This record gives sequence, C-alpha cells and structure tokens, in this order.
Amino acid sequence: MEINHCCYCGRELVFPVIETAEHIIPRSRGGNSHKNLQPCCYWCNTWRSRADLRNWRMEIQEILNEEHRTKPPYTRNQLEIIIKKIDFWINYINEHRSEMIVEKDPRPKKKINPQIIQRKKDIIKQRVEFCKNIEKIRKESGYTNNYLAEKIGTDPFNLSRLENGSYSPKLDTLIALLNELNIQIEFVKKQ
Ligand SMILES: [Zn+2]
Repeated sequence: MEINHCCYCGRELVFPVIETAEHIIPRSRGGNSHKNLQPCCYWCNTWRSRADLRNWRMEIQEILNEEHRTKPPYTRNQLEIIIKKIDFWINYINEHRSEMIVEKDPRPKKKINPQIIQRKKDIIKQRVEFCKNIEKIRKESGYTNNYLAEKIGTDPFNLSRLENGSYSPKLDTLIALLNELNIQIEFVKKQ
C-alpha cells in the first residue's frame, strides 16, 4: 500500500506510527488541508525541513553532480528517486493547489467610506490655503525660515513642509508660530 512509503525517497516506512506526516506545501504558506499531508520518512522530513521543493531539488542535484558523492543515509540511487518525486510533487501542486491549501481566516477588506475620503481631501485643501498665509506673513515680517524655526523650536525642514501644506503641525507648534508672527485667530461662528 502506497501509504506506507515515504513520499520522497519511496522507502518503506517500517514504523508508520512514529514516522512523520509531511506538508508538501508548508503550513506557513497555507498548506493546511489534509490533502496536503503525505507519509514521509524521518530523514526526508528532516532534510527538507521548510525548504522550498525547488531549492531542495537543487541541493540534491548539486550532490549528484559530483561523482561518487552522496548524502548518508541515502544512496545516489535514492537521491535520484527523490528528485523524480520532487518533480512529481511540483506538478501535483500545480494541478491541485486549491485542494491542498486552506486559507486561514482571511481578513475582510475594510470598506473605505468615500465621504470620509472627500472630507480628508477638503481638509488638506484648507490646510494648504491656511499655510500659504503663514508663509506670506513670515516673509512680510522679515523672518527667514531658519530664524522662525529656531524661535518656535522646530526644524527648518518641517517649517518648510508646514508652509507648503504638506505637513500638519502639532497644535502647540502652531500656537507658538502664531504667537511669534503676532497673528491672531478669532473664532467666529459662520453665518
Ligand atoms: Zn524518505
């Protein structure tokens, strides 16, 4: 019965109970279906470990490329059998992947409310307009970027970004800046 043979080297599993079950597609890549499980000998399971089948195949091929070389406990003949089996499993995966993989709890995609996106765009627009005024007043006051940045305890780079509207400062930074430029903002209810 095929079930008593290693899925790679074909060795008969003498003690199937203590031999391992091999995940042809690693569990980390979704191979959670029972159809992905195959009987496997201790040696093959340990050697392959989590390697990609193609990488494992290359490793074995490199050994075979050197005359007389082998990897105990395998004979060269057994290594050739493993390579053929790996090719078989690569084909098998191509044809049966969907049955071998069980997606674990796929996360539902968040729906983004288009109204919220529009609101954010509007706010950024307002920010850019607001900040243009800051740059204008700074220049009118004769402040350089570096000087003002130092005065309010921020980075000149951040101040530039603030002035072109690409950076949203902390409220404390904004208050310091308004104080320094002697700008007063009045809160007036819109009519
Ligand atoms: Zn084996």
